Amino acid sequence: MHEDISIHEAAKYPWSVMARSLLKNLDVTLGEVDNNPRVVQRAHDRLTQALDSRRTQTREMQSDDEYIELTSFFVAKALVDGIGSMFLRRRWATAEAKRAEGFLLKESETKLPQFAKQEFNWQISSAGRVASRVFSHRLHFSNYLDATAGFHEREWKLVNKRLDKGYVLLRKSETVRVIRAAVEKMLIRDIKKVPANFPPNIQKVYEDIDETVRKQTDRMRQEIQGEIVTEAFPPCMQALLADMNEGKPLSHIARFAITAFLLNVGMDVDSVLELFMRAPDFREDLARYQIEHIAGKRGSTEYTPPSCAYMISVRLCVDPDKAESRRHPLAYYRRRRKWLSKR
Ligand code: SF4
Repeated sequence: MHEDISIHEAAKYPWSVMARSLLKNLDVTLGEVDNNPRVVQRAHDRLTQALDSRRTQTREMQSDDEYIELTSFFVAKALVDGIGSMFLRRRWATAEAKRAEGFLLKESETKLPQFAKQEFNWQISSAGRVASRVFSHRLHFSNYLDATAGFHEREWKLVNKRLDKGYVLLRKSETVRVIRAAVEKMLIRDIKKVPANFPPNIQKVYEDIDETVRKQTDRMRQEIQGEIVTEAFPPCMQALLADMNEGKPLSHIARFAITAFLLNVGMDVDSVLELFMRAPDFREDLARYQIEHIAGKRGSTEYTPPSCAYMISVRLCVDPDKAESRRHPLAYYRRRRKWLSKR
């Protein structure tokens, strides 16, 4: 099915099944592309743009750009895997998904369902006129709910969508927006192990991006660390803390979210551990291991709590109506703490 893929298509959607298959056939290695300064530079640009503006530009490609676009994505991805920062991974995933959105909007209405079926195994097809309104696509409600779980705007809620026999009817721009969300989610989840050392030119990019990420995260950390102000905790974290205090069992993701949040606002491992002692299934060795892992003491990745969008999707957000104006529980804490200190 993928043999007929053109490099032009793969360059537009370098994370796709077809692009991966093409790259495998081309047998490209990091060592080989390390000698191509345009590939290395473009990989660097992809990551700096993601960090600067969360957007990897959708630019028209000349034919000699295609190889660069395709291979630079894989270099950038290897660097994201190697640096192991969730902050960088989220920024990069958002930027790459937005880049893809620019190309998807230019695709024909018939191509989008084929693409979504191939990439995400969705039940999707062309729609046409339904009760005097014209729609582009019909997407099965389960696929729709899964992809839009982090959307907080009312217009995306299922009750506000037109349904036809279990399928959500979408305009073309809406289908593209839903695909973009699925791409972003897929990139965030697709974590691979990478070799300990990169070839020399890619290694320089690694060091540069790693330092930029470190500076940005240190700056953000400084803004949220210092005295811990529990009154400034966002409602979702207050609710999780209340559950912990009452000894209620928390789901895996809830434990992850509250632990990452507390560590990021400056609580130490022992203090977080103490909070978990009331849990009915508490086991000190296991809990300590998990907390230290999230704190980055047992691996290279130091975790941050999930974004508001993700918290909504796993039903941990307790204030979804306000989520539109919020992006992240740590950002909420930073702003609220500042506001409280001025009062
Ligand atoms: S909007 Fe964000 S910060 Fe506020 S409760 Fe929901 S997840 Fe927490």
